[in-house]
Amino acid sequence: MEKIPLKSHHKFFGQAKNFGGQYIPEILRPALLDLENAYKKIFPSKTYQRELKDLLKHFVGRPTPLIYAKNASKILGNEIFLKFEGLANTGAHKINNAVGQVLLAKKMGKKKVIAETGAGQHGLATAAAAAKLGLSCEVYMGEIDIARQRPNVFNMELFGARVISVTSGTKTLKDAVNETLRVWSKESSETFYVLGSALGPYPYPDIVRDLQSIIGKEVKKQCKDYFETLPDIMIACVGGGSNSIGFFSEFVNDKSVRLVGVEAGGIGNQVGENATRMSKNSKKGIAQGYKSIFLQDNQGNLSPTHSISAGLDYAGIGPQLAYLGTIGRIEFTSALDSKVIEALKFFAKHEGIIPALESSHALAEVINISQKVKNKKIIANISGRGDKDIFITAKTINPKDWVKFLKEEIARMQELRIDSK
Ligand SMILES: *Cc1c(COP(=O)(O)O)cnc(C)c1O
Repeated sequence: MEKIPLKSHHKFFGQAKNFGGQYIPEILRPALLDLENAYKKIFPSKTYQRELKDLLKHFVGRPTPLIYAKNASKILGNEIFLKFEGLANTGAHKINNAVGQVLLAKKMGKKKVIAETGAGQHGLATAAAAAKLGLSCEVYMGEIDIARQRPNVFNMELFGARVISVTSGTKTLKDAVNETLRVWSKESSETFYVLGSALGPYPYPDIVRDLQSIIGKEVKKQCKDYFETLPDIMIACVGGGSNSIGFFSEFVNDKSVRLVGVEAGGIGNQVGENATRMSKNSKKGIAQGYKSIFLQDNQGNLSPTHSISAGLDYAGIGPQLAYLGTIGRIEFTSALDSKVIEALKFFAKHEGIIPALESSHALAEVINISQKVKNKKIIANISGRGDKDIFITAKTINPKDWVKFLKEEIARMQELRIDSK
């Protein structure tokens, strides 16, 4: 079979220019040209790659382990392995990308980085990388997300970042993206935009894939410690697509390996109840600087979405994943919120890990696929750990005790205030 190129060609993935590109206002063209030059010259340079490698090892904590899930394997009838990105600094794969882009910014002579964030995970990773590398950092976040994700805001501020509330539109991620692009267009000579997933205008999808491909490269080596051959099936959750493309890219041309992407099935099939972009509900379109597949209405407005995991509820999907899905190289499926919680509980109980709700989508598919295939080597990417989800999981799994705890905690704080007077 013909080899699938990994890098975009003339800014697009695939032949027909259906995925990717650079759909931006004129005012952003110099900034993106600057970035393209840095990607072509600084990024591949020995100094940059050496410093990146050092940061990945001594700051991020790589390589992350590939865990043999022995107990789950026995129950499910497959050989199951978990690539545990949850052990990376700040708790997820997002730091791989953030540290790489912030280092690039520094090498380009920028003094400041800006980032968009939805749930706060990308903002957190960017703020950590900026703190480490000594750049100032502003994170744009929807007003509603700030209210919902207070712990991440708190931690970003500890890292010294300024979190700026976005009050336009729906006051969530897509408005934060628009606002970050607007700010960047005004101050791009001194500022670098750290984009959080494998999407946006060229060359971001290429940069993010390259930085996240460390996941798949490590997996390929680690497989050899357990078995001589390639895995049979690899499964990852898909939000914008950065953990999945980073996990898959090293295996795209190993055609014997089935690659499975899992989207947020949410609570049902109606508009606003899920984020299944690779289903019949979506259409090709152009938004936020790139051409891909989006959940949108007939006027091209992005549709509302839902997922129990804040990281998977974006209306668009990275152009390379959309392309690889369209040509059939990646199979797409989805997991309902209820199945996600079941999978989280199952793997916590049998394997001693707390996966993020996002990653638990991949685990839900591990359980699902194990009803159809047996004796296969399956690797799931655990994109992050679940500590950050305590406010969602606790009230879903054991609401009574959680409410009791929160009430008592407030009472304890009120007592403390009287004491400290
Ligand atoms: C943000 C996030 C995701 C989704 O983003 P991708 O770009 O699709 O990887 C998945 N898992 C975790 C833990 C996240 O924080």
